[in-house]
Amino acid sequence: MLDIDNLDIKKILEHAHMGVVIHRADTSIVYANPAALKLLRLSYEQLIGRDAYDPQWAFVDENGFPLELSNYPVNRVLNSNKRLENETIGLIDSTSKEISWYMVNAYMEGRLGAENCFVVVTFSDITERVKPFSAEDILENAQDMIIVTEADNVEYPEGPKIVYVNKAFETLTGYSKEEVIGESPRILQGSLTDKVAKNEIYEALKKKQSISQTLLNYDKSGRPYWIDMNIIPLKNKAGQVTHFAAIERDVSQIKFQQEQLANRNNDLKALKASLEKRVSERTLSLQQAKNQLENMAYFDPLTQLPNRRFFSVHLSKQLAAAKRRNEMIAMGLIDIDNFKQINDNYGHSKGDEVLKGFAEIINDAFRHEDAICRYGGEEFTFSIIINHIEQAEQACERLMQAIRATRYNVGDTTVNVTASIGVCVTHCQANTDEHILYRSADNLMYKAKQQGKDRYYIGDVE
Ligand code: GH3
Ligand code: MG
Ligand code: MG
Repeated sequence: MLDIDNLDIKKILEHAHMGVVIHRADTSIVYANPAALKLLRLSYEQLIGRDAYDPQWAFVDENGFPLELSNYPVNRVLNSNKRLENETIGLIDSTSKEISWYMVNAYMEGRLGAENCFVVVTFSDITERVKPFSAEDILENAQDMIIVTEADNVEYPEGPKIVYVNKAFETLTGYSKEEVIGESPRILQGSLTDKVAKNEIYEALKKKQSISQTLLNYDKSGRPYWIDMNIIPLKNKAGQVTHFAAIERDVSQIKFQQEQLANRNNDLKALKASLEKRVSERTLSLQQAKNQLENMAYFDPLTQLPNRRFFSVHLSKQLAAAKRRNEMIAMGLIDIDNFKQINDNYGHSKGDEVLKGFAEIINDAFRHEDAICRYGGEEFTFSIIINHIEQAEQACERLMQAIRATRYNVGDTTVNVTASIGVCVTHCQANTDEHILYRSADNLMYKAKQQGKDRYYIGDVE
């Protein structure tokens, strides 16, 4: 059986590749093997007798953040009385800016408080394993700005303190790392930074929660820029939030484009509204033009009385209605007497005025359901449905009186006119039409002219 009791353990340690450091309970170092000295890049003298608080080196956690003294391996073991197993810890010493990574184990030898109580820390270099590439390089060269602050003291105005910013931060803000480390990100905020957003961030930081915000910041020269930021809490091994990382992206351009787009939308809306207005105006004027055309088709432009076309339509309806109801139609033709003289004496336009006035008389003398029109020139027609011939006589009497009583303004003086009327009355036959009625009325009117004008004749249809 192999007895190893007699082996020189210390000698074995001297040759081991693993670093071994033995602390007393006050953390001072009593032993370090050559591997430990090599790994820590220290001489025996530099190490022995020193305690964990020695500022020659600093430990960092897996994320590269400085390890609190209470979290140093020796203190962890002393404080918790538990062994440390396979912890990844980084070391920064004064000789190198690179972090060396160690897999660390530590345990207590002896009883705490007893004289021979030691903490044995063993470690091996795992830098190559831990760091196939540099995460810091990625942070440093990221296009987004990255700001790391402490998680404590987030209170206004000092906190939280910036511990790291990357290159993108320097480029965008114009502040150098040296200028901002130790300052609060609040130096980037200004008068137009949204107070509500700022407060939401502050509340999240107080609760050590993550938050996303879009915020207006200012660079060193005072130029404002918009950032989209994600703030995430960073935890240490013990699960405590020790830092916040803010990843920020300059969205000024996007914001600007959004504004441009909004403006453009507003312009388009205004354009659409104005086009719609123009279209509706155009539609209205087209409608008016259409109405005018329709008017022209059915109304006489000088007197605004219905024209012959309208009269025909109306008359054919009257004929059908009268036939159905067994009533009579009285169709009259009115021709102004000696109208030529008006034109000759006072001019054509005065003649027009007289025609307009005359048309009003006719318009007023009949009811809505009666058909009237300017048949042409100084000839007008009417057609009424009657039950007795007397009704046709009454209509003619009324009309004659109104015609005789009306005086027309023809410049310096006024004139009146008379008219001759022929009225044919008929019980509607199957073949009765406008032409037959007109011819009969015309003959009766001609008779009135021959008999001295200013009179009417009523007769049967021929
Ligand atoms: P009569 O008593 O026989 O009907 O005589 P008259 O002069 O009325 O008849 P005539 O048919 O000889 O003349 C009609 C005139 O009416 C001739 C024409 O110049 C005029 N006239 C026709 N239409 C218009 C019009 O729209 N405006 C004007 N000012 N005159 C018109
Ligand atoms: Mg005539
Ligand atoms: Mg005439």
